[in-house]
Amino acid sequence: FDMFVLAFVERFFRPSYKKDDFVLGKKLGEGSFGVVYRVSLANKPSSKEGDLVLKKATEYGAVEIWMNERVRRACASSCADFVYGFLESSSKKSAAEYWLIWRFEGDATLADLVQSREFPYNVETLILGVVQDLPKGLERENRIIQTIMRQILFALDGLHSTGIVHRDIKPQNIIFSEESRTFKIIDLGAATDLRVGINYIPKEFLLDPRYAAPEQYIMSTQTPSAPSVPVATALSPVLWQLNLPDRFDIYSAGLIFLQMAFPGLRSDNSLIQFNRQLKRCDYDIVAWRKSLEPRCSPELRRGFELLDLDGGIGWELLKSMVRYTARQRLSAKAALAHPYFDKEGLLTLSFMQ
Ligand code: ADP
Ligand code: MG
Repeated sequence: FDMFVLAFVERFFRPSYKKDDFVLGKKLGEGSFGVVYRVSLANKPSSKEGDLVLKKATEYGAVEIWMNERVRRACASSCADFVYGFLESSSKKSAAEYWLIWRFEGDATLADLVQSREFPYNVETLILGVVQDLPKGLERENRIIQTIMRQILFALDGLHSTGIVHRDIKPQNIIFSEESRTFKIIDLGAATDLRVGINYIPKEFLLDPRYAAPEQYIMSTQTPSAPSVPVATALSPVLWQLNLPDRFDIYSAGLIFLQMAFPGLRSDNSLIQFNRQLKRCDYDIVAWRKSLEPRCSPELRRGFELLDLDGGIGWELLKSMVRYTARQRLSAKAALAHPYFDKEGLLTLSFMQ
């Protein structure tokens, strides 16, 4: 009963929008399943240019709206601030579209920031809000990367505790929120909510092969299909324990960690090449390191040096995220408790969360 009243009150008091309420601004992205624009409200000339983001999505938009509504109630700080989603079917020519609205969180995704020559110092400036006038070096870079990893894992822990697996974790889907000065997750279009069986059957064509864990199917193909309507809440936690689907995201987050530590692995091509090498090593990252280290470039050596700081706990963490078997990977919660995070990171505004 309480839930019903709450949902009603929320529906009643939250703003609801329609197509004509928005003025389209710059296009921010275009994938196979939708187009993303910066937008502003037509009736609010006082509002800054484009303080909202609109995604016009295909049929997968329905799932994305569901996921965003759920995130807002259960783990709001994990993802970009969702405002509203609706089915737009007024235009006669084109097929129905789902429109999704978020607050504009900021200009930079982690992909943009990592591609910069200034990385990771550019992120340090964003998180602290000031330029640190300190000597550059491995220790400082490690501290920044540690802070980014902590924020990503914190956001993932929120999603996973809610029963959501993202399935498309990559730097392009991690946005720096200027207001909270933290990284947040975006793009829940490929996400799956196992507790209620929404989008349970993985659409493997939605997965990005560059960041996907070796198990392409998140749940073993032996598990029975969950119903496509939200009912089976009693069954799903068992399946969760059995298959540990959240570890798919952990693998992807491990690859992001790797790319932050090794500048040479940040381009698409070098990541694809890394994936090939790792596969050749039977997904044994220790074997990968051994195969490389004897004839290692100075740049690659520097990456290993960074991970080897403090007795190699960074390398230890990476090893326990990028593993072939899902069961052997740490959960987000366990990763946050890893000694790699014992040292204090950058002073952040996390107390606000
Ligand atoms: P897709 O990958 O399906 O095209 P995304 O949801 O990843 O759609 O959004 C595409 C791009 O739009 C992102 O990479 C990011 O640059 C930008 N973007 C999305 N949501 C926001 C937001 N809330 N605030 C600022 N920028 C956003
Ligand atoms: Mg995306």
